[in-house]
Amino acid sequence: MRLILIGPPGVGKGTQAVLLQEKLGVKPLSSGEIFRKEIEAETDLGRLAKSYIDRGELVPSGITIEMMGKRIRADEVRKSGFVLDGFPRTIRQAEALDKMLDEMDMRLDKVISLEVDDEVVIERLSGRMSCTKCGEIYHLEAKPPKREDLCDKCNGPLFLRSDDKPETIRERLKVFHENTAPVIEYYAGRECLLRINAEGDPSEVFQAILDGCK
Ligand code: ADP
Ligand code: ZN
Repeated sequence: MRLILIGPPGVGKGTQAVLLQEKLGVKPLSSGEIFRKEIEAETDLGRLAKSYIDRGELVPSGITIEMMGKRIRADEVRKSGFVLDGFPRTIRQAEALDKMLDEMDMRLDKVISLEVDDEVVIERLSGRMSCTKCGEIYHLEAKPPKREDLCDKCNGPLFLRSDDKPETIRERLKVFHENTAPVIEYYAGRECLLRINAEGDPSEVFQAILDGCK
């Protein structure tokens, strides 16, 4: 299967991507996650990306398309299928993805739009923490770790994302409405668009996705 998860920051794309991987064997490709790994490894790409990410702005599309294109074309991913998280985020990226898939004679099975109100986004992102080792996500109020700053699953240290500050969250939401909401419209004319209310807990949202993918 070839899937896209699209939705505002904090809607739970990363969580659903992992659940889809476990259930369907599809490879999760998260552009944000890939950028964060590049930043951590202090690569040139990481340094460049960080300057945009910390302001809540988009990394330029040319760079992003090249980075994601490499992974989407990988042999292993051709076999397993994929679930994209965070890409495409602009019309230009969506067009580039279409071109890539055409060249490989492949098509998308579903574009899953996860939908919540802006207030929910702000609440979820303020207080979010994730594990540096396994990626498990916690929330200071909704899902606190048993021990302060340590992962329940793997004991890895937890961290707060540098772009989860209130001003940056507002900027990311603005960028979502301006650049990414049109991408949902871009897919709306095709049969593959699946709109899901993502205010429920992750297992409810997951069930709704599976039902919609039948
Ligand atoms: P979220 O969806 O919670 O905002 P992500 O982890 O998907 O977080 O992305 C974090 C940041 O990485 C974005 O705010 C943006 O700066 C950058 N980024 C991720 N994906 C893209 C993309 N497809 N195009 C441009 N920038 C991106
Ligand atoms: Zn962990």
